[in-house]
Amino acid sequence: MRISGLRCWKMGNREEYPEIITISTKEIGSEPVAHWRVVKPVIKYETCIKCWVCVQYCPEGVIKESEKGPIIDYRFCKGCAICANECPVNAIKMVREV
Ligand code: SF4
Ligand code: SF4
Repeated sequence: MRISGLRCWKMGNREEYPEIITISTKEIGSEPVAHWRVVKPVIKYETCIKCWVCVQYCPEGVIKESEKGPIIDYRFCKGCAICANECPVNAIKMVREV
């Protein structure tokens, strides 16, 4: 089975990343996903208000609270952008990796 790496990407942002990356599911499994992620979230700590909404919404549970602000475990972040879309102050920017 083959899936699109951008299928879970919010529709409104697709113009920015029009390419569809196709990968095999056997490359995913339960292993770290950083090798196939297309975009990754980057926290703007100067903007973050530490509301922890991103922590609650991340479907992978890979965002942890810290004194500094949210910390993302990039080994398991799939780049879905839910955290960026839910952040109330736009403190998370999705950045291309490929
Ligand atoms: S991009 Fe998705 S998986 Fe990665 S930290 Fe944000 S919500 Fe979690
Ligand atoms: S949702 Fe935005 S403001 Fe709230 S903790 Fe996460 S990055 Fe900071």
